[in-house]
Amino acid sequence: MIDDLPPLREVVARHGLDAKKTLGQNFLFDLNLTSRIARAAGPFEDTVVIEIGPGPGGLTRALLAQGARVVAIERDQRCLPALSEIAAHYPGRLTIVEGDALEIDVAEVACAHQPSLRAEGEAIKEQEPGSASLRAAGEQPRARICANLPYNVATALLTRWIEAEPWPSVFDRYVLMFQKEVAQRIVATPANRADYGRLAVLCGWRTRARILFDVSPAAFTPPPKVTSSVVELVPNPAPLPCNPQSLSRVTQAAFGQRRKMLRQSLKSLGVDAGALLAQAGIEETKRAEEVDVAGFVALARAFDMLRQ
Ligand code: SAM
Repeated sequence: MIDDLPPLREVVARHGLDAKKTLGQNFLFDLNLTSRIARAAGPFEDTVVIEIGPGPGGLTRALLAQGARVVAIERDQRCLPALSEIAAHYPGRLTIVEGDALEIDVAEVACAHQPSLRAEGEAIKEQEPGSASLRAAGEQPRARICANLPYNVATALLTRWIEAEPWPSVFDRYVLMFQKEVAQRIVATPANRADYGRLAVLCGWRTRARILFDVSPAAFTPPPKVTSSVVELVPNPAPLPCNPQSLSRVTQAAFGQRRKMLRQSLKSLGVDAGALLAQAGIEETKRAEEVDVAGFVALARAFDMLRQ
């Protein structure tokens, strides 16, 4: 027991929340597990936690029981009455936002619910894209994202959050459940050739990412086909300077034809691939999976120079 609310299975039955595959619904009922994920995201002193896809509220309840203030973004209207019951149990600590997380600016939501970040949120709205974060060096952000993500949009959500401008964003940590295969692609380096790709370059550039633990399919209702992993991403406060869109273009070109040498695969960028590689200091005969994050940043910067 982590609270006096009814057991999750009872909540799901009473509100008719049969899991929908189209919404990536695999619910967690195991309180030990939800508490473990919440602990990994804590401690929560003066922290607002954005949870994507609370569903019937298993992880939400674990976060609240450990002292978090939570803003939960849920697309499935059927879950809202169950979430309102949890909000009533924790007055002033759970805000429910109905909507599609892909269309919501999570940093703006966090700023709106965190007094210490509200002024920063207003200033961010006024800022030119590409400008640096307004936060004074050393000041602690007090917002975090924790979620058992819907698998069908998990990669799209993560990419959006890590490509966000300005950087570092208002979040000081992301503790997220993915399919294990995706988790391995997030933390990969050139040493893990098969998994190393666009996602690893993006996450390796702006964060330090690690797998915290695996979760068996049996922990979910209904069980997915594959093992899952909880991943922690800690923002790198000063990543190598580079435009995220340019990094995305060069990694797309390079990994889009990952077996080809870069002098060939980078031709699709519409610039002189030889000049691009020379400018970045990378051998023409290298393949995408042999280039580290710093190499891709150099390529993105060279791409911007050659396009001017
Ligand atoms: N957090 C709950 C748990 O751990 O038991 C449910 C996790 S379930 C894997 C994913 C949740 O995300 C579902 O509740 C689903 O309705 C919700 N969801 C799916 N797509 C979404 C979207 N685009 N925006 C917000 N929520 C979404």
